[in-house]
Amino acid sequence: MQVRSYVAILSICILGLFSLQGCTGPDRSNRLVVIDAGHGGHDCGAQCGGKQEKTLVLQVVKKLEQAFRREGYRVYLTRGNDRFLTLGERTRIADQKDADVFISIHANAIADKSRFEAVEGVETYYLQKTRDGRSQRIAQRENEAVLKGTDMLSRDVIVDSVLAGPKVVESHKLAIDVQHNIMKRLHSRYPDAKNGGAKPAPFYVLVGASRPSILVEVGYITNTKERERLFSLDYQERIAKGIVEGVDRYLDNRQKELGI
Ligand SMILES: [Zn+2]
Repeated sequence: MQVRSYVAILSICILGLFSLQGCTGPDRSNRLVVIDAGHGGHDCGAQCGGKQEKTLVLQVVKKLEQAFRREGYRVYLTRGNDRFLTLGERTRIADQKDADVFISIHANAIADKSRFEAVEGVETYYLQKTRDGRSQRIAQRENEAVLKGTDMLSRDVIVDSVLAGPKVVESHKLAIDVQHNIMKRLHSRYPDAKNGGAKPAPFYVLVGASRPSILVEVGYITNTKERERLFSLDYQERIAKGIVEGVDRYLDNRQKELGI
């Protein structure tokens, strides 16, 4: 009986602690995040080992939505099911909703089969022109589908107009915070998870979103070990939590800078 009482008291204490944390936690209800699951519908994205990028990113985005809501954020998904959206539709949503941040989720792939098991890791991108050939190739692969059906405006002109704004600096800061926190979450269970870093690349899905915007390549679907991890609940939840913690960190710092 006594043991049972202790258990009951302990349970009440733990429950109390959680509810207390819930009550005293920071108010995030004025923060809106737009999350974009890459590809969808006829556009499957990268494919390997019978798995498709469009399916993976939708699973990750659903975890991300839950993780943000748990922290009190307002969340809007560009797609919550298997459908295709044009480039304009994706970024227009972020602008119309006046989101604080725009996050596009993708999975990476390489074409060279002989290097499938050698190339892995998580990378977070922000919009910027770069001379780095590898980043350019990744951006080119992701851009192909998203540019389909859009008119052929001068791509350089579009990117230049975005780079003129201060959001490039903000997007860079957001990318660093998000990448750091994803790796922190992953490394506590997967110490060999590779940190690909926060990098610049000309992703067109980030053009037109006039707010801090990043694209997270959550891992390589062409790497057997990483593909298996990516489709596991635990790995997806760690990525989601890391992204939320990164956004938290970025927005808290921005508030401090602005003196709010
Ligand atoms: Zn993609």
